[in-house]
Amino acid sequence: MELLKQRIEKDGNVRMPNIVKVDSFLNHQIDVDLLDEIGAEFYRRFKDKGITKIVTIEASGIAIACSAARYFKVPVVFAKKHENKTMDDDVYQVTIHSFTKGKDYEAKISKRYLDSSDTVLIIDDFLANGEAAKGLTAMVEMSGAEIAGIGIVIEKGFQNGGKTLREMGICVESLAVIENIKEDKVVFKK
Ligand code: 5GP
Repeated sequence: MELLKQRIEKDGNVRMPNIVKVDSFLNHQIDVDLLDEIGAEFYRRFKDKGITKIVTIEASGIAIACSAARYFKVPVVFAKKHENKTMDDDVYQVTIHSFTKGKDYEAKISKRYLDSSDTVLIIDDFLANGEAAKGLTAMVEMSGAEIAGIGIVIEKGFQNGGKTLREMGICVESLAVIENIKEDKVVFKK
């Protein structure tokens, strides 16, 4: 997606050693016009797959998933990371290793919102080692729902998440794929 790549080049920052910060338009402040284009692009790529639900993980995935969901006209279900008293007891639950925080956390989705009648598009902001996407995939599989694919805004192609997920037979569509980072500049896959 050319518009997205241009924006990453213009406003993205590289943090040592391989973290890309896009806080000025995606992860903290959000450019809603760009977000709308991202949602439309996911729709273009997955519109024929019979999607009934979009699944993501809090927090950064939520806005992106909602933008796509407006095109698909389906609900968004986001996995919760934080304990809270209002969460249902009956949940699909996995342990995910956080790439950016370097520690494990529990992610949960209420069984009320996902079942075997669903066809799911999983969406997230970044794909690095694939731990978040694999965790979401596992929860969707627990529900018996079908996984139509995974939509990623920025894939870091020099980490192994994309390869692992594609080898699992999952259709992974990334809107921008960073091949490598040279002297703090991102180099996109052609
Ligand atoms: P993975 O689970 O694929 O290793 O990492 C993906 C998750 O970690 C995403 O949900 C994202 O929040 C975070 N993440 C991974 N790499 C980056 C990065 O370079 N920049 C930012 N902002 N988040 C990242």
